[in-house]
Amino acid sequence: MTPDRELLAGNERFAAAFPHGALDRRPRRGVVVVTCMDARMEPMEILGIDAGDVNVLRNAGAIVTDDVLRSLAVSHALLGTQSAFVIGHTECGLHGATNDDVSGGLGLSTEVDFLPFDDLEESVRSSVRCIEESELLPASFTAAGFVYDVRTGQLRSL
Ligand SMILES: [Zn+2]
Repeated sequence: MTPDRELLAGNERFAAAFPHGALDRRPRRGVVVVTCMDARMEPMEILGIDAGDVNVLRNAGAIVTDDVLRSLAVSHALLGTQSAFVIGHTECGLHGATNDDVSGGLGLSTEVDFLPFDDLEESVRSSVRCIEESELLPASFTAAGFVYDVRTGQLRSL
């Protein structure tokens, strides 16, 4: 079976015993998790929570971009969230990479900034500051930074 068909078969099994049909769109915990797209990270498992508990925003590097701020603002204004957890992680693909590394992988010469970083903790702290300083969010909306260790499963507060 091709990978695509395997994934669709997986959804058929999931939907056959679907447990989340009565959930409200407002996250029960009032929290937004901002984290990386890394396949080793499953935010719900990492935090011991379930569907309906938090909003999750993911991108390459757990970077707070303009679009992440847009989503945080929507989450706060329409879904009632009050805080964000920014979770970077060890062995991130963007850690120590360069824009040329990504461009080269695409076979392109491009001026796009893929937002690579050299200091993991500073990257997370910078994202936390972006949330704290955003004019889209009220001062009451809080943000905290963490590093997830992909080898131990432990979350470390910054
Ligand atoms: Zn990553």
